[in-house]
Amino acid sequence: MENTGVVIVAAGSGTRMGMETSKVLLPLAETPILLHSLRKFKQFPWVAEIVVVVREKDYEQVCTLLEHEDIDVTLVVGGARRQDSVAAGLKALSPELPWVMIHDAARPLVTTDCIAAAYAGVQQYAAVSVAVPVKDTIKIVNENQIVLATPPREQLWAVQTPQAFSASLLRAAYAQAEQEGWEVTDDCSLIEKYGYKVKLIPGEYTNLKITTPDDLPIAEALLRNKGEVRTEMRIGFGYDVHRLVPDRPLVLGGVPIVYPLGLLGHSDADVVVHALMDALLGAASLGDIGQHFPDTDPAYRGISSIKLLVEVTKLLAQHHYRVGNVDLTIVAEKPKLAPYIEQMRIVLADTMQIPLSLVSIKATTTEGLGFCGRQEGIAAYAVVTLVKVVQ
Ligand code: MG
Repeated sequence: MENTGVVIVAAGSGTRMGMETSKVLLPLAETPILLHSLRKFKQFPWVAEIVVVVREKDYEQVCTLLEHEDIDVTLVVGGARRQDSVAAGLKALSPELPWVMIHDAARPLVTTDCIAAAYAGVQQYAAVSVAVPVKDTIKIVNENQIVLATPPREQLWAVQTPQAFSASLLRAAYAQAEQEGWEVTDDCSLIEKYGYKVKLIPGEYTNLKITTPDDLPIAEALLRNKGEVRTEMRIGFGYDVHRLVPDRPLVLGGVPIVYPLGLLGHSDADVVVHALMDALLGAASLGDIGQHFPDTDPAYRGISSIKLLVEVTKLLAQHHYRVGNVDLTIVAEKPKLAPYIEQMRIVLADTMQIPLSLVSIKATTTEGLGFCGRQEGIAAYAVVTLVKVVQ
């Protein structure tokens, strides 16, 4: 039953993404692009081996990524051109496997239906590709974009991957390509040049190729539409009070404030950050700051609460949460906090590594009423939302 070797090509430079990170490692619905198709292929009992071809500079990172996946994969380094990468992948497959399937990792939306159709196709024809009829009218142009011809649309199909082949046929075509110096952009073209017929199998328009940054939100929307990902939102609330005393620095929202009194506490007593952390932990049902940073632990004596917020941010990331937004209210009769609010927003947004627009901070008094009104202490309230993409 296990009769097919799969080569997933993930060695493209991804220059059109305009990013330093390799395209296939960018997150799509919180999961690296490469893993989307890998998880689809591994579901088939006829898949005997999977080879992933990566760029040399991504090798270590992809290794680490695959350690956490329950998939047996051989990782090889690709070449300068796509066909060199496929050739490297083919070499890494066991030679006795009768069928080979080639897939571009940049097509993460490939469905199991599509893969199954390619597999069924190659049992009948020796070389197949999934493809879709072209919807646009295609023009052939010269180097100045002057139209030379308009081929009839009914004859035009856009080929995608997976492409599936008799392994011996594809190997023979690659051997000849190397001898003759053929340059191609897909494996079916090699088979055509080699003189064999290629059969197209109807694929899916949603099997798009991630090429530019614009493609990512489209791909995510398509995944959502198929019900493959959904967003879970959680709300958290936090509240904290510290006593105002002489001879203590006053730090609110990570910003030092010029004032003769400061807040008493084991750490720097930053009541704003404490309320915020409790809201974040609460939204994730991960306890409270007293549990995570006990005031009996000398390690936290006088510590900047911003350092603790860094830890909370890491913890949320480990649990795959990202911050939706933050709304904070500081209750203090004095000092006047308006001049510091913007700086607090910047510090908190930087620490949580989220856009400034997601952080709101307000300050209010209690008109002289209660302990805040009598300037015995300062209180802070925090409401946050956390977002998790669930697959
Ligand atoms: Mg506190």
